[in-house]
Amino acid sequence: MSKRVAILTSGGDAPGMNACIRAVAIACKGAGHELVGYKHGYNGLLEQEFISLSLDSTHNLIQQGGTVLHSARCKAFASIEGANCAATNLRKARIDTLIVIGGDGSFRGASHLSQFWDGQIIGIPGTIDNDIYGTDATIGYYTAIDTAMSSIDKVRDTADAFERIFLVEVMGRHAGFLALNAALSSASDYVIVPEFFVSEKHDIELIIKQIKAQRAFKGTVSFIIVVAENVWPNGLAGLTEALNQHGIDDVRPVTLGHVQRGGSPVSQDRLLATTLGEYAVGLVGSTHTNIMVGEVNQRPVMVPLEETWSKTKALNEARVSTMKTLMNERYS
Ligand code: ADP
Repeated sequence: MSKRVAILTSGGDAPGMNACIRAVAIACKGAGHELVGYKHGYNGLLEQEFISLSLDSTHNLIQQGGTVLHSARCKAFASIEGANCAATNLRKARIDTLIVIGGDGSFRGASHLSQFWDGQIIGIPGTIDNDIYGTDATIGYYTAIDTAMSSIDKVRDTADAFERIFLVEVMGRHAGFLALNAALSSASDYVIVPEFFVSEKHDIELIIKQIKAQRAFKGTVSFIIVVAENVWPNGLAGLTEALNQHGIDDVRPVTLGHVQRGGSPVSQDRLLATTLGEYAVGLVGSTHTNIMVGEVNQRPVMVPLEETWSKTKALNEARVSTMKTLMNERYS
């Protein structure tokens, strides 16, 4: 039966959100559902700001970074009054199903809304951090790895020219997926991630040991340390100071920052976005609600929304083991 579906993008934006909006629009058209897009994340629900989405409006969207619906954070929505207002507006707009593309915060928000609105809610994971339980990857994650990797490649050129030590901070909030994979794929010499950072004392000793071992082996060469944000106390400044205290002076910090969120999505993100968009629309009108759609071993799955943030996704063990071997034993 034909339904009225709404979609929004919320929280940290990620490359591939547009590809997912496009996939949802095509699948809705095929299934005979109407589709509207709320703008600016949950703010759109509070302001009743939505647009009709058609195949025309989503044409040529698969390769565009960002999100045509715009994303935002919305403090007011997290209150009881905010969610009540959103629920009233969804009822007024006769929405049957709300699709939320976002990260764990946006999914918490969707759960919060479900206490005030009895329509169907489906989450689609879109975040460069990949920190969502229940799916092997999130939309935007693969593009962000590529962006970080190619940025570190460039850093390495200048690091090599001056035989310097570079510290490169990558995003990831509370998870090391991006940092670990960017470090491995760019052949960085050390990585600091929340999952296996021990302490300042422990890690600085290992780093110094590695720098000395590498220099004994190859002479003065560049050394690149990838640092996940929010792990080292006082960030890159704190790590620079710690290295200085151990007599290592030629240190340059680089924060990659928001470039990691931009760019045309790579093929894996387009494929994931397209599969999950289509799968989500296939569930419209079913009894499945308060779920996230994800992909495990290349098959679409449903996960209760609450598990996506209450359970923790572990880093890939084999990749961790490879990185630790490279960090600890290469020159000893
Ligand atoms: P992400 O989806 O990238 O993790 P945020 O953590 O910034 O994004 O959350 C996006 C929005 O989701 C917030 O601005 C807020 O409106 C809503 N939200 C986040 N956490 C909660 C919560 N615990 N309860 C209700 N709403 C929330």
